[in-house]
Amino acid sequence: MKTALITGITGQDGAYLARFLLGRGYRVYGLLRRSASADVIGERLRWLGIEREVEMVDADLVDLSSILRAVQATQPDEVYNLAAQSFVKTSWTQPLLTGQVTGIGAVNMLEAVRLAAPQARFYQASSSEMYGLIQAPIQNETTPFYPRSPYAAAKLYAHWMTVNYRESFGMHASSGILFNHESPLRGIEFVTRKITDGVARIKLGLTQTLSLGNLDARRDWGHAADYVRAMWLMMQQETPTDYVVATGRTTSVREFCRLAFAHAGLDWEAHVTVDPAFLRPAEVDVLQGDASRARERLGWEPEITLERMVAEMVDADLERLRRRGN
Ligand code: NDP
Ligand code: GDP
Repeated sequence: MKTALITGITGQDGAYLARFLLGRGYRVYGLLRRSASADVIGERLRWLGIEREVEMVDADLVDLSSILRAVQATQPDEVYNLAAQSFVKTSWTQPLLTGQVTGIGAVNMLEAVRLAAPQARFYQASSSEMYGLIQAPIQNETTPFYPRSPYAAAKLYAHWMTVNYRESFGMHASSGILFNHESPLRGIEFVTRKITDGVARIKLGLTQTLSLGNLDARRDWGHAADYVRAMWLMMQQETPTDYVVATGRTTSVREFCRLAFAHAGLDWEAHVTVDPAFLRPAEVDVLQGDASRARERLGWEPEITLERMVAEMVDADLERLRRRGN
């Protein structure tokens, strides 16, 4: 039986990845940081019905001693480093924390693996945000990076440290440069989930309007369930390297709104307003990925279309609100 250690297991990708690995017979350990709200931790794992199947280890990414003990105790075959301060907008108000967790935290993981489980394979959650002010209309593994936020700068450091640990110490370390991916388990502060939650609230008569920022921004949106499969495939390759994971299709926030409202039988223009509070100090206008390498070497293809994902997200938010009633 293989053993995996997932940091960020309570987040969107961690939950989907845990389900995927359990389905393949893995023993799955997850890093859990202490919270005063212990009762709400693991809500995503509960939603997927796997909260009792994963084993939690107490650790925080910024505390190397805890990370080292976690790696030592679990002796994983595969380590997936998904933990991060992952929200771009917050990275301008908490730039140092973002650097500590998203940047240095990844190096803490690399060090812990190098010291305590050097044979383990390592996955780093890199991000299309590293392309930022894009240097090519469609981005692949050779496109130069131009980070546009403290989040992206921290991810870029973690990305290059992963490459360096691979090249310096022969570690089986790969980075997945994942473009945006969403699901019903996406954090509510991200634009897609904010929209589908807003649509559900409007549909149920709980509110009338939804305030957003830049409607012209374009993203290459895929589904998290498809993307965690790509992470695992990277870990099964003999030779580690970096892979872009993307759908190849770019869509504006405006068009996402239209699709989500239309799924509930609503007209987005009657409800969406623009509030400058949701604009950012610097914007990433457009991202569009070329996942040819993942297709060719991993045999990976996204299976869930944007339309199907939007429908799933709106339906899940309607269901949640009907159950909760607020
Ligand atoms: P989430 O924000 O949903 O999850 C982040 C996870 O990190 C949570 O489990 C959180 O724990 C954990 N975490 C945060 N700080 C710490 C810390 N100090 N110590 C230990 N754990 C911590 O992110 P996603 O699942 O969406 O993304 C997974 C990874 O992929 C992230 O690194 C993200 O930056 C990256 N990424 C995501 C993309 C996307 O579109 N989703 C695109 C490209 C990259 P807690 O529950 O306690 O807060
Ligand atoms: P990001 O790509 O990781 O920053 O993911 P987000 O979902 O947070 O943002 C995607 C894009 O949507 C960015 O270009 C935002 O500027 C844009 N956007 C427009 N309105 C909003 C909003 O109200 N909230 C968020 N989070 N993003 C918004």
